[in-house]
Amino acid sequence: MPQPTLTIDLDALSANWRALDAASAPQVETAAVVKADGYGLGIHKVAPVLARAGVRSFFVAYAEEAAPLRDAIGPEPTIYVFGGYTPGDDALLAATGFIPLLNSPAQVAAYRARHPGGRYGLQLDSGMNRLGLEPEDLPGLDAAEPALVMSHLACSDTPEHPQNAAQLETFRRMTKGFRAPRCLAATGGVLLGPEFHFEMTRPGIGLYGGAPFTDARPVVTLDIPVIQTRTVHQGETVGYGATWTAAEPRRIATIAAGYADGVHRILTRGVTFHAGNTPCRNAGRVSMDLTGVDVTGVAPEPESLQLLGPHQGIDDVAAAAGTIGYEILTSLGHRYKRVYKGG
Ligand SMILES: *Cc1c(COP(=O)(O)O)cnc(C)c1O
Repeated sequence: MPQPTLTIDLDALSANWRALDAASAPQVETAAVVKADGYGLGIHKVAPVLARAGVRSFFVAYAEEAAPLRDAIGPEPTIYVFGGYTPGDDALLAATGFIPLLNSPAQVAAYRARHPGGRYGLQLDSGMNRLGLEPEDLPGLDAAEPALVMSHLACSDTPEHPQNAAQLETFRRMTKGFRAPRCLAATGGVLLGPEFHFEMTRPGIGLYGGAPFTDARPVVTLDIPVIQTRTVHQGETVGYGATWTAAEPRRIATIAAGYADGVHRILTRGVTFHAGNTPCRNAGRVSMDLTGVDVTGVAPEPESLQLLGPHQGIDDVAAAAGTIGYEILTSLGHRYKRVYKGG
């Protein structure tokens, strides 16, 4: 059976990193966030390309993600883990040499007891209330100089949000007295301007072509083969629940991807697939492996339809699904044939 093809443009990925790197002063290090398997695009391909583009520090969420990353990038680059440290991470720590970003006084104590002299960073909570040390934790901290002090902005995709300035102020206050490099900005923070850049930035989504980096080059293209096309007569229905009825005779293509592949079922309420330059609406509920698309009038009848590409990016599909580009990327299916271009 013909397979859906996810094409990943590695040249666009490295161009996006270079563009975000150029957005800060030359002395600011631009790292890269490659958690969740490189935002779903394959860490074994994404990370080496970023390393060749010039990335020297990588961030992942969990210790377990450090192992495939280390395999992909070799011994040199630094790996930071947002999730911090538990003693259960010691084998991975020894194997990969990742630097944990410690999130609580208990993590600092546990890490320092088991790894005297070991390198670590501190994650500070500057107002998002998700992970990190609170201002009142700092005075009691029996901490050597960390390798990095970082925090995360809750609203950086909304430049006018007052919380950006408030968190900036809190971060400045909390990092006073540390000599370690400071890192506050993810993609949104890079775009907020130089006062958010400190010594290091760490973009994620912008590398992969997503908002809020609106000038990003698109990185993914998704082509889904048509496996059957039929005429549906007036009054006939398409798909589970018989929710879509032909008002007149229509040609309906059945394509080989559904919600198990990240074509979210909520897209039933309206998403467009492209046959070349022609937009075609879905017809009927998205099912697990298949989706109906109305291709009436398209000539010649398409052999495949495109969900992601030049006509429609991850943020467009996200808007149709009521979500964000991050979620579209990280739920892209594992049944797709993945084709890597460039790099
Ligand atoms: C995911 C994540 C990032 C990357 O954010 P983007 O918006 O994708 O650039 C940076 N820092 C932390 C703590 C994160 O969890």
